[in-house]
Amino acid sequence: MPVIGVVMQKGGVGKSTTTLSLGTELGRLGLKILQVDMDAQTNLTQAVGLDPTKLTTSVFDLLMDPVRGVESAIQPTAFAVDIIPATLGLARAELILAGHVGRELLLRRALQLVRDRYDFILIDSPPSLGLLTLNTMAAADSLLVPLQAHIFALHAMAHLEETIALIQQLHPTVAIHGILMTMVDRRTSINQAVEQAARERYGNLVFETTIPFNIRLVEAPAVGQPIGIYAPSSSSAQAYARLAQEVRARYG
Ligand code: ADP
Ligand code: MG
Repeated sequence: MPVIGVVMQKGGVGKSTTTLSLGTELGRLGLKILQVDMDAQTNLTQAVGLDPTKLTTSVFDLLMDPVRGVESAIQPTAFAVDIIPATLGLARAELILAGHVGRELLLRRALQLVRDRYDFILIDSPPSLGLLTLNTMAAADSLLVPLQAHIFALHAMAHLEETIALIQQLHPTVAIHGILMTMVDRRTSINQAVEQAARERYGNLVFETTIPFNIRLVEAPAVGQPIGIYAPSSSSAQAYARLAQEVRARYG
């Protein structure tokens, strides 16, 4: 029952999209999945069709009280995966918890109580290295890093590696187990160069599956459906389905 944190210190690279799409496809393989929204932007929460302004419990409650907050924070979705959703108020957690001892271990403590029930737990994280990302990293057994197929992405990757080196001093068990190329457009030579460089540098840490740039992935969250439901025959839905197979094999 691995806990996978989806992290990258940069917005718009496909973290939330990957958490949702991969989680749904793993669910369709018959695995029991929990997704956790650790981003106050609530993109993941909205993308499964929940209205963050109408939630009575969320990941915020869990952070305030990991032991008692976790059960009620878990909610089913229409897509056979469970979610611990976020509300906009999550941003306050950083302030409230500042100065609390062990504040980066709250999510870890909460998930330890429920992880036996799930085959995979996927955590979506915000684009900054604040308390919420630290909680994600501390709770995760391994990290999945989306790498946007863009010319500057390798710099971002180097930056993230520095960050993770630091985290590993605190939590030696967390490791990067996969780099995922997202928004790949093979027609451009820049894309090809980035992918080639990533594979040369990181070898088989880079998932064989790459996620193509596909406008359906922009549309799907707006209607609150995962890509595998919204456009099952699209190139991106099929890519995430292949990724689910690869992830199951890799972490299996
Ligand atoms: P992050 O969580 O890292 O900020 P998102 O997953 O929210 O990134 O993706 C940023 C934007 O790009 C969203 O509008 C999303 O719908 C879109 N997107 C994500 N992956 C793809 C893709 N492979 N092709 C096209 N658009 C994508
Ligand atoms: Mg996001």
